Amino acid sequence: MADVRLQSVRKVYGTIEVLRNIDLKIDHGEFVAFVGPSGSGKSTLLRMIGGLEPISGGRLLIDNELVNDIDAADRNIGMVFQSYALYPHMTVRENLAFPLRMAKAARGEIATRIGETASLLQVDHLLDRKPRQLSGGQRQRVAIGRAIMREPKVFLFDEPLSNLDTELRVQMRVQIAKLHKQLGNTMIYVTHDQVEAMTMADKIVVLKDGNIEQVGSPHDLYHNPASRFVAGFIGSPK
Ligand code: ADP
Ligand code: MG
Repeated sequence: MADVRLQSVRKVYGTIEVLRNIDLKIDHGEFVAFVGPSGSGKSTLLRMIGGLEPISGGRLLIDNELVNDIDAADRNIGMVFQSYALYPHMTVRENLAFPLRMAKAARGEIATRIGETASLLQVDHLLDRKPRQLSGGQRQRVAIGRAIMREPKVFLFDEPLSNLDTELRVQMRVQIAKLHKQLGNTMIYVTHDQVEAMTMADKIVVLKDGNIEQVGSPHDLYHNPASRFVAGFIGSPK
């Protein structure tokens, strides 16, 4: 199980407040999209949940445990970002093995997980290649595979498809949605593409200038946008 709670979470950089009093409940197994214009605070919010960015105020709970001061490595959260960040000198197999090697898993377990993950993401035939011998879509599938090797309770994506061409982006959306169904874990997905959010998410969080403007299902947001801003962003007729 993994639910995520944010209570009055704030973030300041120097004297600038980039997130103000964020209250948010994400339930186990939900697929949540964070949307909003560039600079609205989506990545910062995601990075705080992942433990890559300290919280300036408020409380962050994962499964009712206060994690404000828990290191990223100890939160067992999988993360995939826009730039693939695979280790260039390692093969796909070694890239996949890496998180489990760091966690000191047994060799047999690592081999089993590589087999399962590679088949899930259809990269079995690429295991002995280096990242530079892969296409953009293949690299992104390996990056997703690496992030799920430790079977994270929560999975964070920050605009993972924005470097891919349109056709591949559509394929990867389908693949990520399938992965969510198979793993049944909590996924938080940052995107500035409202089509992605509307088609993939159970719940959408609209951010504007460091505040949550509205939270709701795609249906809610489309039919009952809380403001002109949300309507404009979602492309609602209102
Ligand atoms: P988004 O992902 O929605 O584009 P970000 O979370 O990246 O937005 O940024 C939110 C705000 O915080 C922006 O105004 C950005 O300039 C600022 N910001 C982000 N990271 C830093 C940082 N390391 N230092 C100072 N300001 C930052
Ligand atoms: Mg961002």
